[in-house]
Amino acid sequence: MMWIVWGGPTKPGPAWILVGGMAAGMILGALFIMRFQQVEVVERVRTYIFGDKSLELPKPVTPPPPGMAWVKALTTAYCPCVICCEKEHQDWKTSTNRDIRIHPYGIASAHKLVPPGIWLDIPGYGHAMVDDTGGAMRQDAQRGIVHLDLRFEEHQVARRWGRRWTWIALPIDSGAAKLQPEPETTH
Ligand SMILES: [Zn+2]
Repeated sequence: MMWIVWGGPTKPGPAWILVGGMAAGMILGALFIMRFQQVEVVERVRTYIFGDKSLELPKPVTPPPPGMAWVKALTTAYCPCVICCEKEHQDWKTSTNRDIRIHPYGIASAHKLVPPGIWLDIPGYGHAMVDDTGGAMRQDAQRGIVHLDLRFEEHQVARRWGRRWTWIALPIDSGAAKLQPEPETTH
């Protein structure tokens, strides 16, 4: 019966090589697209398979500044280019109407977790205002993840930032701090 299905006991012919080549090409093409457009997909699969080592990040040893709480956050990076933002930034304005030509650096968040207008210190990035938002941040907020997207001027620099977990001091009354309540401390 199998002979009929497979076209008889023949060796793989040019047709099979063509089909195999096309399949390999599609896989390579998909990987290529993921590499250059959706780096996050690769990272998510890696995190799913191997777990997220960064989640073991030790908490800062000193207490947070007054009125703030340490919150574990996922940071990613973007720039105003079409790959990072599609059409969103082609008018040079953030979601809070801030002109990115004047303010090249800033932070995008899910505003219900991290409100716009506040200034944050992001280790390795700097001191910047929350002035933008994005679908990925809002989606991660639904899953209980505090996700901040950091704005860079250059795409290559944003790419180099990648995806990093870090502890950030956020206002104690923000949605993010309430999401990760601080255990009772004896400081
Ligand atoms: Zn970009």
